[in-house]
Amino acid sequence: MSAAAGCGPTSAGKTSVMTSFHGYELLADYHTHTIHSHGTGTVAENARAAAAAGLSEVAVTDHGPALAAGMGLREPGAVEHVRRMVEQANLDQDQVRVLQGVEANVMDRGGALDLPDKVLRRMDIVLAGFHPASRGTVTGELRALWRSHVVPRLSWRLAARQRVENTKSLSECAYRHAVDILVHPGLRVAIDPLELARAAAKAGTALEINSAHGHLTPASARAAARTGCFFAINSDAHSPVKVGDLAAGARIASLARIAPERILNTGLAGRSGAVPLPGRHGRRTQRPS
Ligand SMILES: [Zn+2]
Ligand SMILES: [Zn+2]
Repeated sequence: MSAAAGCGPTSAGKTSVMTSFHGYELLADYHTHTIHSHGTGTVAENARAAAAAGLSEVAVTDHGPALAAGMGLREPGAVEHVRRMVEQANLDQDQVRVLQGVEANVMDRGGALDLPDKVLRRMDIVLAGFHPASRGTVTGELRALWRSHVVPRLSWRLAARQRVENTKSLSECAYRHAVDILVHPGLRVAIDPLELARAAAKAGTALEINSAHGHLTPASARAAARTGCFFAINSDAHSPVKVGDLAAGARIASLARIAPERILNTGLAGRSGAVPLPGRHGRRTQRPS
């Protein structure tokens, strides 16, 4: 891990420490989990951890309700409860701006998500991706596992067809919903990175380089970068100690030679282009600057 601290402005205009990973100065971690799905820390603990890591923004993005084994935001009122926790965390400290988000589950070939658009529109940031077995029922989970793990091994033709379908589902999801970042593309579910990146560039959605899972891979990220799409380097932390752990993702970005201006967390993305990410649907008014 190569991390070094320096000084820089925050989204709130204050001076804060920023952290450099493999040559990228990263101000934010847009993918962390808390006890409200299957993380181990509270919203406040993730905020403190982000401040300690030298970040100026952190998003709390617990799983959508369809995640297997009831690990998502299932309780009635859970989204509202997290919103109150986020508001409180922002009142309690001014080092880090805490964003309320969600990691929604892509549910079908049409890119449907497991939370209604009216809920998504109230989020500061929306992440979406495949989580095999996220159907909420035993039958549905078994069917999803069959399609994502068994079918691709039966023949290369089936595997190729599945890859095309998966890519279409994620692309449709980006076109149809207010999704800021498609998470860990290629993890356990095969995709075509070039096709997906073309769709993401068109939709104004970023592709994630996930530090915990190593997806996008360096080869996929390099292919995706040819399209001019945006990227986000995130920790996918499930405990506060992992919040801001962005070195592995930054290494992938560096191997793929992605320009800092294409990475949301650098605060440089969208400055010269027309894609104001994240929050392109008006949920968010400020980017790190
Ligand atoms: Zn995930
Ligand atoms: Zn996650």
